[in-house]
Amino acid sequence: MLSIKNLHASVEEKNIIKGLNLEVKPGEVHAIMGPNGAGKSTLGYVLSGRDGYEVSEGDVSLNGKDLLELEVEERAREGLFLAFQYPVEIPGVSNMEFMKESVNAMREQRGEEPLSAAEFLKKAKAACKQVQLPLDFLKRGVNEGFSGGEKKRNEIMQMILLEPSLCILDESDSGLDVDALQVVADGVNSQRDGKRSFIVVTHYQRLLDYIKPDFVHILADGKIVKSGDASLAHEVEKSGYAFLGKSYEEAE
Ligand code: ADP
Ligand code: MG
Ligand code: MG
Repeated sequence: MLSIKNLHASVEEKNIIKGLNLEVKPGEVHAIMGPNGAGKSTLGYVLSGRDGYEVSEGDVSLNGKDLLELEVEERAREGLFLAFQYPVEIPGVSNMEFMKESVNAMREQRGEEPLSAAEFLKKAKAACKQVQLPLDFLKRGVNEGFSGGEKKRNEIMQMILLEPSLCILDESDSGLDVDALQVVADGVNSQRDGKRSFIVVTHYQRLLDYIKPDFVHILADGKIVKSGDASLAHEVEKSGYAFLGKSYEEAE
């Protein structure tokens, strides 16, 4: 599904990703942990095709297509979903309009009929309930005045409605309370179906108590330096990143 080979990428002429390799197969959940500033968020931005992120070397393929050749919108239509660490506000555009456009664009890409207003409303209401947001959030401007936890719930609602094939969630530094954490975890778990894949970036092992990852990777200094199963996250929780060497112990 996703294959990253020897990826090197920079932002503002600073090399951040330095030879990263990662293979994600359909249905797998991969957790990425690592010290602050390791390049975890940068990896998400590079994959999503955000402006200002330059790839100097390496290959990334998604469903057999060269991801790096695709425009941002094409990546999304190819099934890539990135829940942004700091979601943007789009005042004046309602959540409902925004989501309906996005969902129907995805459906068109997959050769499916667009949803009618009534069909979409039904799905949107169900998703809204699932993430425990009041229904009036559908009418509000996208992320306009949403609290941190509400933005997170909204993101998960977007994920549920878009039915992407690969979801990247970046939970670092987001200061989620336990309820919001549970919503994120429930959202992910409800979307696990043996085909859809997830990359979950997290600072803390605690999210992984709710989302059971198939693999845990440690990203440090722009590459994956260690991979294992869920027990690796417990090891990090207990001993920090000391095993990476002195400099990371402090960075953590
Ligand atoms: P993480 O998510 O692992 O904490 P990031 O990917 O956010 O790390 O950042 C990795 C490194 O890249 C950090 O040293 C950060 O300061 C640097 N960085 C990120 N964005 C920029 C930018 N726009 N300009 C310069 N440096 C950046
Ligand atoms: Mg950070
Ligand atoms: Mg980050």
